[in-house]
Amino acid sequence: MDNLFFTNEHKMIKAMVREFAESEVKPVARQLDKNSEFPKNLVKRMGELGLMGIHVPDKYGGANLDMVAYATVIIELARVDASVAITMAAHTSLGTLPLLLFGNSSQKKKYLSKIASGETLSAFGLTEPEAGSDAGSTKTTATKVGEDYVVNGGKIFITNAGEAGVLSFTARVIEDGNDMGIGAFIIPMQTKGLHIGKKEKKMGWRASDTRQIYFKDMIIASSAMLCSPKVGFKAFLKTLTSGRISIGALSVGTATGAYEKALIYSQDRIAFGKSINQFQSISFKLADMATKIEASKLLVYHAAWLKDQGKNIVKQAAMAKLFASETAMDVTKDAIQIHGGYGYVSDYDVERYFRDAKILEIGEGTSEIQRLVIARELLKDLQF
Ligand SMILES: Cc1cc2nc3c(=O)[nH]c(=O)nc-3n(C[C@H](O)[C@H](O)[C@H](O)COP(=O)(O)OP(=O)(O)OC[C@H]3O[C@@H](n4cnc5c(N)ncnc54)[C@H](O)[C@@H]3O)c2cc1C
Repeated sequence: MDNLFFTNEHKMIKAMVREFAESEVKPVARQLDKNSEFPKNLVKRMGELGLMGIHVPDKYGGANLDMVAYATVIIELARVDASVAITMAAHTSLGTLPLLLFGNSSQKKKYLSKIASGETLSAFGLTEPEAGSDAGSTKTTATKVGEDYVVNGGKIFITNAGEAGVLSFTARVIEDGNDMGIGAFIIPMQTKGLHIGKKEKKMGWRASDTRQIYFKDMIIASSAMLCSPKVGFKAFLKTLTSGRISIGALSVGTATGAYEKALIYSQDRIAFGKSINQFQSISFKLADMATKIEASKLLVYHAAWLKDQGKNIVKQAAMAKLFASETAMDVTKDAIQIHGGYGYVSDYDVERYFRDAKILEIGEGTSEIQRLVIARELLKDLQF
């Protein structure tokens, strides 16, 4: 498959990230999960390797790499530790992408170099207590007062919030008492009036930092506006479609890591005098796992490749995210089954992979929302 989508540069990136993941991430992954410890040192290392600025143009110190390269990096990281992968993905795809897509030159100048080097981590605030799948129900307001905006409201489940230096967020823009629609802003995390909540205790992705944030009479200059309501909230969300490729890639990596562990275990574990993979019920499970991973990988790389060709990827990205995340859930569940009782205890990593997989069916659009998007795309061209 690598030959289908990869240039020599992609192959080199894959080898480089595999080496980093195996030698630096894998040895600490279990401990980071156990202690719910944010991987600060690994973020620094990913900055040094150019991963934190993977999409950023070289004039800002970024690696300026394409979506196929990005998917490869996420797969390789998630294969050993999904928390590290989502920390990097939330920074690059969610936190940085709105700035790359909608930022003006002074906003880019202000933030991008430090973002690309990994010195500044970024976060993205869209979800609110009453606006998750229904992101259009955003209640946070940015009210124009003179040349400034006064922001009130709050966001929940924000990845990297406690570690980030910069935040992109959405808010309902109010001007002269009128609701102008939803816009997006970019601000330093240290802005007065921005309050960061306590770290969430999660089922999985435990080393990733997830928090609520609150805005209380936070005053920001008009120059912090990233995307005006005129550009349109739908257009804004559409451009974040590539985030679905992120989660698709995270799903492929998570599933691959669990599958590889189950494959080795199935050879080593002897029952009734033979390796358990000599039982058809186990070998068929392995066959199904490998097949679903292969199909997921094809969907993810195809969506990434289409994105690199400048094509509309709404349907393909949703399909990739849906299928790959449900595959990750199935594969990690079967990996535990193959490990028997050992799969249920934390000395074996498959229970971590299983816990890390569930969120993949929820974040960046639930499976239900992906089906809704796909169905809408399928039906929109029909003549009635
Ligand atoms: C660990 C973690 C990290 C996250 N990181 C971020 C982040 O960095 N930034 C950010 O902004 N958000 C983040 N999120 C939020 C995440 O994207 C939302 O949780 C997700 O979009 C779902 O929204 P919700 O939780 O409000 O669920 P809801 O929207 O309330 O959905 C509840 C259920 O109803 C279903 N449902 C809702 N609407 C429909 C419909 N129209 N048709 C059919 N079914 C429907 C859903 O599929 C789901 O099963 C994160 C969440 C978690 C748990």
